[in-house]
Amino acid sequence: MDTCRLFIDGKWVDAGSGKTFSVLNPATEEEIGRAALGGPADVDKAVRAAMNAFPAWSRLTQSERAKMLYPLGAELRAAADDLVDLEIREHGTPIGMARGFVAGAADQVEFFVSISRALMGQVLDAFSDATVYLKRVPIGVCAVITPWNVPLLMMAAMVTPALVTGNTVVLKPASVNSLLAVKFTEVMEKLGLPPGVMNLVTGPGASVGEALAAHRGVDMIRFTGSSETGKEIMAVASRTAKKCVMELGGNNPVIVCEDADVEKAATWQAQRHFGNTSQNCSTPGRYYVHQKVHDRFVDVFVGQAERIVVGDPADENTTMGPMANKQQMERVEGLIESAREEGARIVLGGGRAAERGYFLQPTVVADVGHDMTIAREEIFGPAAAILKFSSEDEVIDLANDSEYGLVAGIWTKDVAKALRLAERLRIDSVYINMPRIQVPELPWGGNVKESGVGKDGSMCGLEEFTDLKMMVINQASQISS
Ligand code: NAD
Repeated sequence: MDTCRLFIDGKWVDAGSGKTFSVLNPATEEEIGRAALGGPADVDKAVRAAMNAFPAWSRLTQSERAKMLYPLGAELRAAADDLVDLEIREHGTPIGMARGFVAGAADQVEFFVSISRALMGQVLDAFSDATVYLKRVPIGVCAVITPWNVPLLMMAAMVTPALVTGNTVVLKPASVNSLLAVKFTEVMEKLGLPPGVMNLVTGPGASVGEALAAHRGVDMIRFTGSSETGKEIMAVASRTAKKCVMELGGNNPVIVCEDADVEKAATWQAQRHFGNTSQNCSTPGRYYVHQKVHDRFVDVFVGQAERIVVGDPADENTTMGPMANKQQMERVEGLIESAREEGARIVLGGGRAAERGYFLQPTVVADVGHDMTIAREEIFGPAAAILKFSSEDEVIDLANDSEYGLVAGIWTKDVAKALRLAERLRIDSVYINMPRIQVPELPWGGNVKESGVGKDGSMCGLEEFTDLKMMVINQASQISS
């Protein structure tokens, strides 16, 4: 069994408290390791190390930093056996998907490192006798606070752009993924980055996370997690006016019009819906299906969901593992129960799939009303809520009636209608005639309602880790504007 330490200023150290906490396997509920219980004093040490490392790291050229970080992709692939094993044991990721997550993490690293060498500043034509240029510079010490839902990939996709642009990092992972975070940091250690450039503090959000948000030495927070926590962090971070880039929750509508290819819509959506046990910010929360095609959609969707194999994530045949932690499983059970009580119809599943471990059955709920709890809240677990609609205006009002605005889907054979609907949605990303598929080239998130602040992914996401510093150079004795 692993007992893990913190990584501060290039050294593995125990938490100041000397204490550790238990990390469980969600498939067996057994302890698989212990992680160091960091606290505010450890955060302070890590932030000071990151502050000390910042001047030299930020002065390197973009290409020097990129060359130092590029091998991380290959190192992650080389450590794939250990990382896949931890994805399975710590997160309950089915083995096939776990391999995909490791490959995806390496791809994220190589994407961000490569495009960083194409970062450009700007020149402004403001004065006739002076040159004005804006140079991309790092922001400073960046606290990276990651969620538990796609642990390794999130760490790679959030830490790499921060570091490669010249920031130094203190990583705080979700507590339930502490062992993966330690392994990720061990892999990073192989790059030989200067001490203090990359630091890791494990521990609870309420102490370690909050101490990072409050610390004067932290210049930027890069957070992915729930909207509630995101808002709490922003409130604390506002006391020292930190930059906050937040990728938050979603309750994502998918609209299936009467002229859609219903078989394809239901098949593709169902196949994607239960991936990662539906613990994705982009998983649809509400399927609005036109009343004329509703019953067929439900039949095909359920047929696909019935083919899911729930079980031991280490088994090659398993397509859906447990939920990542008990608290989330109980929350999703509560939502399914509320749907039952509020008059919806459980068409498939609805209960636990095993006596031990956090396994739920793939669940499909039909006859859901727009005001039912399951339609209002982010489900974040293996249940799909299906609702009916009858007109374009109605479905736009329903889809927009949410505090979230992360991503939507539209299925129709009429391109003009698809674009008309997409334009009217107050939602950041819209996928037409396909479920959401994410690759590093695509931006993600944005600034719609409570789903986030700032962009992730793509060049837009990389630029979030930089500031545009202005230099004005006088070339004459007098300046005329
Ligand atoms: P969470 O908000 O509970 O936790 C996220 C991180 O914040 C964890 O590391 C946690 O320890 C830390 N934290 C908790 N309280 C804190 C506090 N007071 N101060 C500082 N840090 C604190 O989220 P989660 O349950 O880990 O993840 C699921 C949520 O993340 C869902 O809402 C999902 O939609 C969202 N998410 C969004 C995206 C996106 O790109 N928009 C991607 C993945 C997940």
